[in-house]
Amino acid sequence: MQKKLRVGWFSFSCCEDSTILFVELMNERFLDWKRLIDFRHARVLQGRNFDDYLDVAFVEGAIATERDADELVRIRSRSKRLVAIGACACEGMPSGQRNEFDEEKKREIQFLVDRFRLCERVRKVSDIVVVDSLVPGCPMVEQAFLDVLDKYLMEFGVVHA
Ligand code: SF4
Repeated sequence: MQKKLRVGWFSFSCCEDSTILFVELMNERFLDWKRLIDFRHARVLQGRNFDDYLDVAFVEGAIATERDADELVRIRSRSKRLVAIGACACEGMPSGQRNEFDEEKKREIQFLVDRFRLCERVRKVSDIVVVDSLVPGCPMVEQAFLDVLDKYLMEFGVVHA
């Protein structure tokens, strides 16, 4: 029986454009991925998702609340590998641009920070958990994502050289 890579795709604070690219890649890759990948968690693809262990978690977006930070730690604890997807996850920007606001602008947006219980600073994924691979770009560089996916398909013995 064909072994499958157990994958999760998660989005935090961001515009989710890398998720759109990921879905668009299915136009060309759907049949391959259906054979090789078990999407345990990918809300953009399916209504039924699972919180069980993963070979690889792909995480898009920056972390703006303690609740999201806790969720990220939970994802990390059940994932053998974790990949930061896109500039917001890799560097915290541009989603974290309020970190750079001057004091006046910070005062202006304080009511939103309070209303949505946001952290004082927006953080990148590696500020909170260990990251195994980075896929840079805004949105993600497609080829970099495919290279990382191929690397883990090989590492977990789903495909062979
Ligand atoms: S890295 Fe760019 S495309 Fe990706 S979520 Fe952030 S702003 Fe959107």
